[in-house]
Amino acid sequence: MVVSSILQINNIRKSYGPVRALNDVSLCVPEGSVYGLLGPNGSGKTTLLGILMSVLRPQDGSYNWFNGAFGDDYRKKIGCLLETPNFYHYLSGEENLRITVSISGRGNEEDITRVLKLVGLFERRKHRFGTYSLGMKQRLAIGAALLGDPTVLVLDEPTNGLDPVGIAEIRDLIRKLNQQGRTILIASHLLDEVEKVCTHVAILKKGVLLTDGPVSDVLMDEDVVEMKAADPVLLQNHLKSQQIETFVDSELGLICARFPKGTAPIEELNRRCMEQGIVLTHLLLRKKKLETRFFELTND
Ligand code: ATP
Repeated sequence: MVVSSILQINNIRKSYGPVRALNDVSLCVPEGSVYGLLGPNGSGKTTLLGILMSVLRPQDGSYNWFNGAFGDDYRKKIGCLLETPNFYHYLSGEENLRITVSISGRGNEEDITRVLKLVGLFERRKHRFGTYSLGMKQRLAIGAALLGDPTVLVLDEPTNGLDPVGIAEIRDLIRKLNQQGRTILIASHLLDEVEKVCTHVAILKKGVLLTDGPVSDVLMDEDVVEMKAADPVLLQNHLKSQQIETFVDSELGLICARFPKGTAPIEELNRRCMEQGIVLTHLLLRKKKLETRFFELTND
């Protein structure tokens, strides 16, 4: 299946005086993805989103939304939450959205109802914004970005300052919005969040793109198969006789076998062990955690 890109970024550079915030960043956001821009503080995520939203100008490079399909109208198709909107505390969620509609010109009364339902605030629509939890406030902000029914949503650190319940609510909302067909671009410094919600990831460090691609590819650069048997020495000798590279995870009492990424022959390993009378009590393809990968990449 050929997946078309919704955003193409080519060799973007941006400096603030001597600080090089983005250095030759190129990437491609596939349609229908939840794309995570991941990087520590100061890595250039907000600058990149600002450029993509035409708030900032790059020194060099270009970007192209929707392959240029909508001309100058493309912005109507993008909902964006770069900083928390200034909602009025003494007005209800619904009244606040009404004000957003009149200021932004996006959406209408019908749209407000649709959006409130979508972000799970319809029941609380008449309540004052000041009475909302932080998670509800953030969901209303995402709701405001959803006015006008954009096909793309751009969010900068959408879970900042939220407790675990609020974070889970935002995660569920992002998944739901993506399942409905929206492409979502998120900047985050939270590895865990990106790992849980994103289909694709780009890792930035000091303005340089270190790696990008599907989360499953970036997470793993090799396959490690964990195995356990009553006689570990027999198992290890058997694997060695097959020219399979092994190591022992003594902490977990496992024999591990390494294979190039995407090539671990799990079924065959099991069958061959059985043929040798070795009964495996544990057989698992280990995923390299994004955290390990992230630290490997971002440590100097
Ligand atoms: P954070 O998560 O902390 O916001 P970030 O990854 O979004 O970080 P940016 O805010 O884009 O990173 O910052 C990238 C670099 O550019 C940093 O070194 C930052 O100090 C610098 N920078 C950003 N905005 C400005 C500005 N207006 N003037 C000068 N330097 C800036």
